[in-house]
Amino acid sequence: MHNKTLTELAAGLRSKQFSSVELTQTFLGRIGRHETLNAFITVCEDGAIRQAHAADQLLATGQAAPLTGIPVAQKDIFCTLGTKTSCGSKMLDNFIAPYSATVVEKFERAGSVMLGKLNMDEFAMGSSNETSFYGVAHNPWDTCCVSGGSSGGSAVAVAARLTPVATGTDTGGSIRQPAAFCGITGLKPTYGRVSRYGMIAYASSLDQGGPMARNAEDAALMMQVMAGFDSKDSTSVDQPVPDYSAGLNDSLQGLKIGLPKEFFTDQLDGNIAAVIQTAIAEYQKMGAEIKEVSMPNLKLAIPAYYVIASAECSSNLSRYDGVRFGYRCQSPQDLADLYTRSRGEAFGAEVKRRILMGTYALSAGYYDAYYLKAQQVRRLISDDFKRALSEVDVLMGPVSPGTAFRIGEKTSDPIQMYLEDIYTIAINLAGLPAMSIPAGFFDDMPVGLQVIGNYFSEPKLLNIGHRYQQVTGWHLQIPKGFE
Ligand code: GLN
Repeated sequence: MHNKTLTELAAGLRSKQFSSVELTQTFLGRIGRHETLNAFITVCEDGAIRQAHAADQLLATGQAAPLTGIPVAQKDIFCTLGTKTSCGSKMLDNFIAPYSATVVEKFERAGSVMLGKLNMDEFAMGSSNETSFYGVAHNPWDTCCVSGGSSGGSAVAVAARLTPVATGTDTGGSIRQPAAFCGITGLKPTYGRVSRYGMIAYASSLDQGGPMARNAEDAALMMQVMAGFDSKDSTSVDQPVPDYSAGLNDSLQGLKIGLPKEFFTDQLDGNIAAVIQTAIAEYQKMGAEIKEVSMPNLKLAIPAYYVIASAECSSNLSRYDGVRFGYRCQSPQDLADLYTRSRGEAFGAEVKRRILMGTYALSAGYYDAYYLKAQQVRRLISDDFKRALSEVDVLMGPVSPGTAFRIGEKTSDPIQMYLEDIYTIAINLAGLPAMSIPAGFFDDMPVGLQVIGNYFSEPKLLNIGHRYQQVTGWHLQIPKGFE
């Protein structure tokens, strides 16, 4: 049961091969058996079974929607009414949201079952899940390696078959990089396509929620639930939601693929480059044409991102003051002591580093030199993409410079960790959609291919992912011990 795709699960539920309660119990059993992966922060056993019973009733009366009765797990950044939402932080270890995120509500309305809340880097700041207050999530392909981050728990849970699908969020690579590290399919949608309401803010102008699944077909079904205008999110885009599954099989004959030459430099591990080249050759066999493009400002993406993301996070995280919600220190002496000790005791080192950098960049004397400059660079990067995507349909390249690294290998050097996102971050600065597709292995660890499209080209990206998955089997590989 646990190896079936969403389409197969939906068919199985309708033909009464199994009930939603049985399906839910299967996944809850797997979550329990593989607890050491540390994929979940909270498992919602009772709630899940209750939702599964309700779904079985809908199925029995023929009122089921496509995802009714299907288990889903949520990244612990999405607020869930009545269930702890920690955002991977000690600060919110005691936080029970008084409302649910729009994304969570949409899955509920679709009749799906929430298995629980997934581990993540603290406030989504990280590339390895190592900044989580709850500890690292282990990569099922090699449990000594990181899962990637920040949506590490989501990627692990999908790869290890602890849930059919999961949600993730991506501010600079957090859906795509863990998807690549764990051998699953992840889509970061166009900024504004999926509501951010109730999705705890890290860097509001970059954050975007999206699906993490085993294949593009499942990601399309998830997008159908997740996408859409939300009046509660002022940056949500009011555009009709297409049928994401309709064009999955469209021909790729004549597809123009751009290869940014700045992606294929010495910085990229030669073994990863070889996997990417093989994947691109596969597309050529399907009738695609290749063109080299240049995006000279890409090299500025990491510094610009770390100024903008830190600035926005320093502002967003100022609400955690020990007064209104979240952690409060013991017996504060006065108000200043309450603020400083609550924040000092509850935020982890990486979060503090970002708040410090961001506050500095936004301070009166440095605003123009850092924040304003970074925003100008951001425009140059967007223009690079605009130019490139006027010449070709999509861009392709790696997701990450290497495969999943060993736990602890990069924790002492933040810059090394920041460089993990060198191929993903620029896409968030431009607000474009991009996808990570399993494209092979190096040293028994998965490698992801990144496909970047124009604004609202999610159907095209899913089509490109799906066609590839019709002729390759990388997405079907299961880590040993999790079959
Ligand atoms: N690793 C990047 C960061 O730490 C991106 C994280 C993300 O996309 N949430 O900011």
